[in-house]
Amino acid sequence: MTGPRILFCWGLAVALCMSGICAAILFEARLDASNHAADTSHNLALLVERDIGRNIELYDLSIQAVVEGLRDPELRNLSLHLQRQALFDRAATARYLAAMVVIDASGRVVLDAASDTPRAGNFAESSYFTVHRDNPHLGLYVSDPYHSKFGDGPLSIALSRRISNPDGSFAGIVLIEIDLNYFRALLGGLSLGPHGSISVVSRNGIVIMRQPFSSAFVGMDISRAATVRHFQTTSEGIFTATASLDGVRRQYAFKNFPDLPLIVMVAQAEEDIYAQWRDRAIRMGSAMAVFSAVFVGVSVWLGVQQRDRMRAESELRTLARTDELTGLKNRRTLFEVLDHEWRRARRTRSPFSLLFIDIDSFKAYNDTYGHQAGDDALAAVARCIAGSVLRPCDSAARYGGEEFVVVLPDTDETGSLTVAEKIRGCVSDMGIAHAASIYGHVTVSIGAATRMADHRTEAHVVLQTADQALYRAKHAGRNRVAVLGEAASECL
Ligand code: GH3
Ligand code: MG
Ligand code: MG
Repeated sequence: MTGPRILFCWGLAVALCMSGICAAILFEARLDASNHAADTSHNLALLVERDIGRNIELYDLSIQAVVEGLRDPELRNLSLHLQRQALFDRAATARYLAAMVVIDASGRVVLDAASDTPRAGNFAESSYFTVHRDNPHLGLYVSDPYHSKFGDGPLSIALSRRISNPDGSFAGIVLIEIDLNYFRALLGGLSLGPHGSISVVSRNGIVIMRQPFSSAFVGMDISRAATVRHFQTTSEGIFTATASLDGVRRQYAFKNFPDLPLIVMVAQAEEDIYAQWRDRAIRMGSAMAVFSAVFVGVSVWLGVQQRDRMRAESELRTLARTDELTGLKNRRTLFEVLDHEWRRARRTRSPFSLLFIDIDSFKAYNDTYGHQAGDDALAAVARCIAGSVLRPCDSAARYGGEEFVVVLPDTDETGSLTVAEKIRGCVSDMGIAHAASIYGHVTVSIGAATRMADHRTEAHVVLQTADQALYRAKHAGRNRVAVLGEAASECL
């Protein structure tokens, strides 16, 4: 993989890691918000349940005191005024107590906490009366909301207990009516966010009070709602559901009253629970996205910079190793290659060949055609040499002036002569006019030397042998190849 890609991948990986950490923190914060809301709802439900439970317990104690008192025959013989004084305690004057009365077996009020003259009316058809008449062992009865028949008929719930004759037969009931404004005052002012609510519901699914208040809710039968079914399965709990009424998803905390057929339910909309979290998540998420984009962008930019620098360095390295005029390797690189290939040939004990190439009568060419034409001819000869050296490990270099060296590792004498002849022929075939040459065109002379690489000899000895061979080629008339083998090198 190239530099820019590695840096891009690293940048992306770091950005993804940081985004992952950010997402994990936000997820934790979301859980915290949910847990905090659940705790708040649970505590609120508990407080409301205890407050209502305690008040109803006090009212029930007052009812029980009346039931007990009515069993006393002496008390029954007292005047209505004294019976009232003895039976109804201060609870009868409590703020939200709509009525406290004793009703006989025929449904008539016989004792009324409000006045010595009991209020008229027959209550034999009311549910709080019939349940006790039909069931001697019911204990305390708590009714659904209804409009009271006393006073100006406020919305109330009834608490009632049965009065039995000594023989167990039905003698009537003691009734307390609690104005629903008590629940409204209790729940009023509690804030559960714009879409939250707190409700007190009877166990059979009738709404007794709800905050925020709406008269439409009081008395509403919600027994078919999926949420209410949850309330009826366990004594208390927390769950999340979408309300069928308004389609809002809420977290519900509920608690059944231990001794009463009532349920308190606190609902908080997820929209409200996660409002603060959502703001923070958007802020953090946006910042993280910008940061990641910048981070990846900077990584890419650094990668591109690094790639450009590496390219420039590589070009510089190539330039430092190349001869500018001919594009072949320069003299310094030639000696590096020579050393490297010679050592390799020694290890593999393979034949090693060198060609020493010199342009014939080149001084005269320059003198005749000028240095610029000389340079062009040099470059043309170099192209011939490069085109004739095809194996990957072969190298051609400009030795200096109009002289070139070709390194042919793992090549025997026959092979080296083939390459040399190819070069000579190529230069000759170009037919670059050279009036001062006996051939009429530019030619080269080539000295070839081949030797089995061993530890007794160094590469420069082979080079000297090739130089000697070149000398022979020159003397033999130029435009030819001369070869000196192992024996010649041994003499050097
Ligand atoms: P011989 O056949 O014996 O090799 O004769 P020669 O003239 O080629 O040999 P000599 O060594 O006398 O001359 C080499 C000439 O090559 C000298 C110089 O004018 C020319 N020469 C060397 N380097 C360059 C170069 O970079 N550009 C040009 N144009 N000419 C060069
Ligand atoms: Mg020369
Ligand atoms: Mg020459």
